[in-house]
Amino acid sequence: MAEKKMSEGKKLQEKLFMKKEHAMKVISDAEVKKADKFCESYKKFLDDSKTEREAVIKSIEMAEKNGFVEFGKTKSLKPGDKVYYNNRGKAIILSVIGTEPLENGVRIAAAHIDSPRLDMKQCPIYEDTELALFKTHYYGGIKKYQWTAIPLSLHGVIVKSDGSKVDVCIGEDEKDPVFCVTDLLPHLATSQMERKAPQIIRGEELNILIGSRPFKDDDVSEKVKLNILNILFEKYGVTEADFLSAELEAVPAFKARDIGFDRSMIGSYGQDDRVCAYTALEATFACKNPKKTIITVLADKEEIGSDGNTGLNSSYLQYFIYDLAKIFKADGWRVLTNSECLSADVNAAFDPTFPDVNEKHNAAYLNRGVVVTKYTGSRGKSGTSDASAEFVGRVRNLLDKNKVVWQTGELGKVDMGGGGTVAMYIANLDVDVIDVGVPVLSMHAPYEVTSKLDVYMAYRAFLVFMED
Ligand code: MN
Ligand code: MN
Repeated sequence: MAEKKMSEGKKLQEKLFMKKEHAMKVISDAEVKKADKFCESYKKFLDDSKTEREAVIKSIEMAEKNGFVEFGKTKSLKPGDKVYYNNRGKAIILSVIGTEPLENGVRIAAAHIDSPRLDMKQCPIYEDTELALFKTHYYGGIKKYQWTAIPLSLHGVIVKSDGSKVDVCIGEDEKDPVFCVTDLLPHLATSQMERKAPQIIRGEELNILIGSRPFKDDDVSEKVKLNILNILFEKYGVTEADFLSAELEAVPAFKARDIGFDRSMIGSYGQDDRVCAYTALEATFACKNPKKTIITVLADKEEIGSDGNTGLNSSYLQYFIYDLAKIFKADGWRVLTNSECLSADVNAAFDPTFPDVNEKHNAAYLNRGVVVTKYTGSRGKSGTSDASAEFVGRVRNLLDKNKVVWQTGELGKVDMGGGGTVAMYIANLDVDVIDVGVPVLSMHAPYEVTSKLDVYMAYRAFLVFMED
């Protein structure tokens, strides 16, 4: 059969138009298989790392298996050496020493390992009408109504007055009990439904149900609360006052699962931003003998503005780089000035059910690969670092050269809302930064959705950046 001749217009289109395609059109079947396989261990990571503390523990476990040792344990470092620095059990920095002088700059990948959730208040436990409950204070940007009537697990630590620490994780094992926030039945919700959406469930209505049987003693009041405290004392040796110095976080008790008949997607709590944390970690482990020194930082507190000494608005990343510089007799500031960073964070994927919030020419789409975001912020680009055209050009070239499927993505229409990432805090250190991450549906919901191909492309993007 004769080949159909390509029209002039078609030829010109091929030459001039930018292609925006499903990753399946671009990558091989073998690579699809690789992506699916990669996501099996990603799901496990999600189930094992539901809080920033658990993500640090898991990261250290993975790092040590890959030959990383704690930073500071060795006085000198040489190319190929692998170290990690644990910041208060809530943030972590991993580094692989490169063959080039440190003053040439380092390659930073920065993701965050905190996710929106319900934190217990300092005085959480109370009894009302023979039910025991916990008072909570939500953490990060949530739609409060999404957190009712779903199974919740409880994670965190309780520090006793003698300084000893109890680790808590209840609700993840099949045999464990779970907890929940109750909601009104529709039959009696007439006036609740009149409330504006942010008020359908109010902050002070996010109370977690923790018990309902009384302690058997007619001489005491608050018997249900007493019974719960007695159970906690027997199990953990803690009293009510110990909650004052505790960090307990309620998170969805669901496990990460495949979504769709074709199993092309992953549904899980906390994919913002553990999807980028995991892919950056795996890239760090896969990158052997890099030219530039690699620094992967998994930060805490991003969801509440990056403040606090485990957030990236703190100086610990800078201090770590200064410490490295000292070992190699380099100027810390010069290392930073010559450095580049991928701010590894998720972006919103276009949702056909809610098309109005996005501007379709600049939105990110599921399955079109990793998203490169030049600027985030809100209104007139407020609260963003806005990567330079030069740096965008460099990253674009790098991804294309290595056949990483990628797209751009702006977080919603202009003036529709907005948001930020850690990019600007790293840019403030005089580092070139751009946001690169995975598109997510239902971001910040208890159950977020990503595409397996995009997850894999994020891993590949971080790896080619580190290997470059
Ligand atoms: Mn994020
Ligand atoms: Mn977020």
